[in-house]
Amino acid sequence: MTNSLPASPFLPPAGAVAPRRIRELPDELVSQIAAGEVVDRPAAAVRELVDNALDAGATQITVRLAAGGVRSIVVEDDGGGIAAADLPLACKRHATSKIANLADLESVATMGFRGEALAAIASVAEMSITSRTADAAHAWRLNTRSGELSAAARAVGTTVDVQELFFSTPARRKFLKTDATEMAHALEAVRRHALARPDVGFAVWHEGRLVAQWRVQTPALRLAEVLGAEFQASSREVASERGVLRIEGRVGQPEAARARADLQYLFVNGRYVRDRLLAHAVRSAFEDQLHGSRQPAYALFLYITPELVDVNVHPAKIEVRFRDGRAVHQALRHAVENALAQTRAVGDGPLAWASSSALPVMPAGPAAPAVSTPPSAWQPALALEETAPLSVQEPAPRWLAEGAWRTPQGSGGLGAWAGLRPGADAVPASAQQGGPWQPPVRDAAGLAPLQPLPSTKAWPLGRAVAQIAGAYVLAENSQGLVVVDMHAAHERIVYERLKRAADVGATLQAQPLLVPVSFAATAAEVATAESEHEALQALGLDVSTLSARTLVVRSRPAALPDADVAELTRSVLAELADPVHGGASRVVQRARDDILATMACHGAVRANRRLTIEEMNALLRDMETTDRADTCNHGRPTWRQLTLKELDALFLRGR
Ligand code: ADP
Ligand code: MG
Repeated sequence: MTNSLPASPFLPPAGAVAPRRIRELPDELVSQIAAGEVVDRPAAAVRELVDNALDAGATQITVRLAAGGVRSIVVEDDGGGIAAADLPLACKRHATSKIANLADLESVATMGFRGEALAAIASVAEMSITSRTADAAHAWRLNTRSGELSAAARAVGTTVDVQELFFSTPARRKFLKTDATEMAHALEAVRRHALARPDVGFAVWHEGRLVAQWRVQTPALRLAEVLGAEFQASSREVASERGVLRIEGRVGQPEAARARADLQYLFVNGRYVRDRLLAHAVRSAFEDQLHGSRQPAYALFLYITPELVDVNVHPAKIEVRFRDGRAVHQALRHAVENALAQTRAVGDGPLAWASSSALPVMPAGPAAPAVSTPPSAWQPALALEETAPLSVQEPAPRWLAEGAWRTPQGSGGLGAWAGLRPGADAVPASAQQGGPWQPPVRDAAGLAPLQPLPSTKAWPLGRAVAQIAGAYVLAENSQGLVVVDMHAAHERIVYERLKRAADVGATLQAQPLLVPVSFAATAAEVATAESEHEALQALGLDVSTLSARTLVVRSRPAALPDADVAELTRSVLAELADPVHGGASRVVQRARDDILATMACHGAVRANRRLTIEEMNALLRDMETTDRADTCNHGRPTWRQLTLKELDALFLRGR
C-alpha cells in the first residue's frame, strides 16, 4: 500500500542521492536566513530600530512609514549616535556595543544585544544610517550596500532609513499581508514601546500623515492614552513588590474581559514579551471569574534583576526565561488576584500589597534592579479605605425640613415648599391607590424594615434602598433597579414648583431673613439691583443698596430655604442684566423660566449630602408627581432603569 502512493514532489526522492559537496554559506546568505528569524515583517524591523534608539538613550523617537513599512521605514532618534568609525561595524553580524564578554551577558539591561538586527535588515533591504555623536562636527551617512561613507547634516542622534524591505528575497515578500495590515502591526509595535517607556516621546507617521503621537507622560497617563479611557475605567491597579521582583500596571475586571486576546500586554524590564508562563499566571488569577473563552485585558510590567532573567533566548527577543519561573508565576498570580479581590471594596487606588503576606518571596538576589525603569507612579500601599456606613439617623437636611417626605395630608404641607405646591394634584397618584404613605417604623438599628412599605408596584420609581457616591439614589421597583441622579432630579422638582408658583401668584412667596445678608457687589450688580428692584421682589428677593459697592438682601424665596443667599442673588442679577432676559423682555416666558431654572439649581440638594431612606423615598415620590421629572433642567436624564433582564445579562445569567 505504501508503494502505491506516488512520491510527493515536496519530499526528497527515496533511494540513493549522489553526494553533494559541503560548502560554507556566503555571509550574505547567512544573514538573509537569519534575517527571517529577526525580521519577518516591517513591524519587526520597526521594533528592532526603536529598541536601538531606546538603548541609545533617546527621549524622542519618530517613525515614518510608507506602504505599511514595506516600501519605507525611517526611524529617527535623539540618542547618543554612532561614531563615524563605528558605522560600518554597527551593520556587521554579531557586532554590538552592548556586551564585551560572557559575564556581561548576565547583567546588561538593554533592549537586546544579539548584534543581529541591523545586519539582518541590511541584508534584506536598501539601508542607510545617518548618525552624529555629540563631539562630531557633523553627521555621517553610511550606505550599507555600497559601504560608502559620506558627510551629512543632522543633529545629534541617529536616523536609520530602510527602503524596499525584502526586495532581494521575493519569497519572503510574498508572505506579507496588505499594507494596511502591515501598518497595523507596525503601529502596534510602537504602541508597545510607548506603554513601556512613558518617559520617551513617540510619533508615528504614515504616508506623510501623523497617525499616533505620545508625548512624555507619567506612567499612569501614558497607559490611559495608549489603551484608552474604557480600559482605564474598567481596570484596577496592580502594584506589588517582593524581593527583587516588582509588578505594576493595570488589570481589567472580569466583566471587562474580551472575546479576543487583543488587550494583553506583558513587559519584562521594559520589554514587551509574549510569554506562556506569565500569561498563564495572569489567567489563573481569574479562575472562576471568566466566562467561557473570554480573554482578560491587562497591561503588566515586571521589573526583575537582569541576572535572574534571560531576555536573549529568542531571536525576536519576545520570549524570556526566568531563573526561577515558579516564583515569578506565583508572584504575578498573587498580584493580579489581590487587585481583582479588592476591586469592589476600595475602588481605584494603590493596593495593599504590603499587608499581604501571601506573596511569595523571590530568592535573595543582588540588590535593587539596575534596570533603568521609567519613572513610576507606583507607590506604597494605602490602607483599605473604609466605606462610611449608610446613616439613616441623621436629622433631615433643611431642604427637606418639616417632614417634607410625608404626604401633604400627613404634614399639612410641604415644609420647605409650603405654598408652592398646588393642593389637590399634589397627592401622588400612587398614594391615592395605596393610601397615604406613612413614614416607616424603624427598628432598633434605625433601619426601616422593608415590610410596612407599600408594594413596589404601587410606586413607579420604587422603594429607596441606598445612596451612593453622595450623588445617586438606588431604588428597587417591580422591573429591577432604579438609579436616580439626586441633584438633577431635585433641581427639576424645585424648578417645576417655582414655575407653578409664579404662574399662580405672579410673585414668589418671600421669606424675611432674620439676619439680612450683605455682600460686596460690582458696580454693574448694584445698578441692576436698583433698576430691577421690582423684578427681584417678584422673585422673593428683597435687595437694596447699602453702599456704592455693597448690596443687602432682606428676604429670599420661601421655596429655596437652602440656597446660599448671596450666590443666588448674584446669579439672578446676572440673569437680569443679560440683555436677552433683562428689562422689559423679562416678562417673556422663556426669560422668566431661565431665571427660575437658575434659582432651582441654587435650591436643589447638593451632591455629597447624605440622605436618609425617608428622604430618598420622598424624592422618588416627588419625582413621580412632577412634570418632566425624567430630565433635569439642562436636558440630562434624572433617572435610569436597569431591568432585571439587563442585570441578568451583566452577570451572564441564562446564557
Ligand atoms: P544590538 O542592538 O543587539 O547590539 P543591532 O544590530 O541592533 O545589535 O545594533 C548594533 C549596534 O549598533 C548597537 O550595539 C549599537 O551600538 C549601534 N546602534 C544601532 N542603532 C543605534 C542607534 N539608533 N543609536 C545609537 N547606536 C545604535
Ligand atoms: Mg538592536
